[in-house]
Amino acid sequence: MKVLSVASECVPFVKTGGLADVVGALPNALAAEGVDMRVLLPGYPSVMRFAEGAKVLRTEDYFYGSGARLLFCEAEGISLYVLDAPHLYERDGGIYLGPNGWDWSDNSERFAALSMMAVVMAEHGAGDWQPDIVHGHDWQAGFMPYYLRMTDPHIPNIVTIHNIAFHGLAPADRLGTLRLDPSDFSFDGFEFWGSISALKAGLTWADRVTTVSPNYARELTRIEFGHGLDGLIRNRASGVSGILNGIDLDVWDPATDPALVNRYKRPRGKAKNKAALRQEFGLPEADGPLCVVVSRLTGQKGLDILLAALPSLLEQGGQLALLGSGEPELEAGFLAAADNPNVGVRIDYDEALAHRLIAGGDAILVPSRFEPCGLTQLYALRYGTIPVVAYTGGLVDSVIHASPMALASGTATGLHIYPLTADAMRMTFKDLAELFRDRDLWATMQRTAMAQPVGWEASAKAYAALYRDVLGH
Ligand code: ADP
Repeated sequence: MKVLSVASECVPFVKTGGLADVVGALPNALAAEGVDMRVLLPGYPSVMRFAEGAKVLRTEDYFYGSGARLLFCEAEGISLYVLDAPHLYERDGGIYLGPNGWDWSDNSERFAALSMMAVVMAEHGAGDWQPDIVHGHDWQAGFMPYYLRMTDPHIPNIVTIHNIAFHGLAPADRLGTLRLDPSDFSFDGFEFWGSISALKAGLTWADRVTTVSPNYARELTRIEFGHGLDGLIRNRASGVSGILNGIDLDVWDPATDPALVNRYKRPRGKAKNKAALRQEFGLPEADGPLCVVVSRLTGQKGLDILLAALPSLLEQGGQLALLGSGEPELEAGFLAAADNPNVGVRIDYDEALAHRLIAGGDAILVPSRFEPCGLTQLYALRYGTIPVVAYTGGLVDSVIHASPMALASGTATGLHIYPLTADAMRMTFKDLAELFRDRDLWATMQRTAMAQPVGWEASAKAYAALYRDVLGH
């Protein structure tokens, strides 16, 4: 089976969040299932650096505003197609945001072009390769199923929702530049409260829609989580299925991780990493759990609630080491909290430090308001770092709450905060400190956490089954 994966991010070429990890991991994970997956990415400067000497497969004189080329190369173990369109992607600043922090005003065209190139590849082939299925990710690939709707024979396609909060909205006057049929600008089409929604186009026309955890798939049918698309999801004949993300077990392996001062196979190996982490963050010795956070600092992640409940963690003898960047108010809030000697904060994006935090922490805090899957709690499990998570999305599917029964049977791997309020979080910090004091119970939880199957094996099989299903095999 040949599958073209269409995305705006892919590790190690370009990343702003978990989407990039998933898109980068899938080709390798699926190879074991006999799937030939290749990736199509926009030619941002960071991607073009990998595409030096790439083969030119197509040249377009006019593609969403100016000339463009389709390139192919093998890079970092991935068969990579690149849409080289300097007028769309060769810019300073972020991949979605300009230097002023606002979305690029032509984001819709930038990713409509990517979706259209996927369609051209599916219809006409790319060099000597032609996909059987096109698999798009998030709103950036939303127009792909729409553009494919007229192909004959039909080309099976799938859209995966990594985060339904981002719709890729454009004003209605872009119908022409986006190559959309005005008659589909309706409630049943891609119209969303007077705007064009790329994600709605994808969810309406895709043969299959998946998301990144079974629990988020259920949540998406509810008004609190659907971001205005819950009705559409409830009404989709084939529904939305959830396949839990995995993590790259080679990159996230405490036994071989080059970022650590002490590599380990058993929980007690964490002690030296914890000592080094304390030193790095200037934290003193303390009796309670050292909690870590590695996160974008945005409203989604619920870290404002952590700021409110933080004093109670410190009262329990706990400590906090946080790495993140994002909204200015949250950055300022945590920097102010770091006046306390038991709180250390780095406003930064730093992969190696993320590894050191996850290895050195006793617990990781993920109090998200919604979390399609979440990756940091999966890394933490593998590193014997106990996840303390909100009861939402993939956090529910991946963390087994330390209820009396789960503790007695040795199946507990973490703690759920429920409901997600500062008060409930304070209670959870008390439970956490108590568990942490019981060295045997804590060590059992750590061992159970480290034994969880957090790799791609099960999910790769689920994707392969989905591909066979959509092909009618
Ligand atoms: P989201 O995609 O919503 O940001 P995920 O948990 O799915 O959340 O994925 C976040 C990814 O980004 C993880 O790989 C995490 O380690 C990484 N990450 C987030 N913030 C930072 C940071 N400041 N430094 C390094 N890595 C980070």
